[in-house]
Amino acid sequence: MSRPGVGQPTAYLDPDPRFPFPHSPTPTRCQTEPQMFDFTNGDRAGETRAATEKRLEKARKACSGCPIVQDCLKWALVNKPVTRFGIWAATTPGQRTALRKRMADRLGPDWIDVLARQDQARREQAAAARHTPLTVDQARIVRLDRQVNGPMPTHRLISPELQQRNRTRLMAGLKAAS
Ligand code: SF4
Repeated sequence: MSRPGVGQPTAYLDPDPRFPFPHSPTPTRCQTEPQMFDFTNGDRAGETRAATEKRLEKARKACSGCPIVQDCLKWALVNKPVTRFGIWAATTPGQRTALRKRMADRLGPDWIDVLARQDQARREQAAAARHTPLTVDQARIVRLDRQVNGPMPTHRLISPELQQRNRTRLMAGLKAAS
């Protein structure tokens, strides 16, 4: 099993493209020490049960201090085919199965689509919030430009003469308004 950012490229794992793996500001422990997060269905070959438990406990602790643990859990839950094994966001495969069932009970059988729509709405809200309104002066220039030249044509090439004429009109309008 590979982790995003480790070994095989993520595309090889074929995760759901609606849920990109969360960005971490620093390398995550599962990227720097992937062997710690190995977990199939019991002990690793050559490892005692106690050693496995100790290693898994370390992995869980590492996840609980990870800056992207919440988004990692969501990613692991929606990407069942690529997270069948291993510790992800401090959960074992069995715990993730139980969590997926709870999600289906809460949001319905199409819970992954519901989450994707919620994410999309959140991204759109964030993009709208990032839009900086025009200053009073900028808005006045835009208004004047529209009064002088009408609505901005899209993809229309204008001649250098027309550009010059527009500039002259705009400057005249600005002068008149100041
Ligand atoms: S929460 Fe755990 S599995 Fe997820 S990125 Fe962080 S260290 Fe890796």
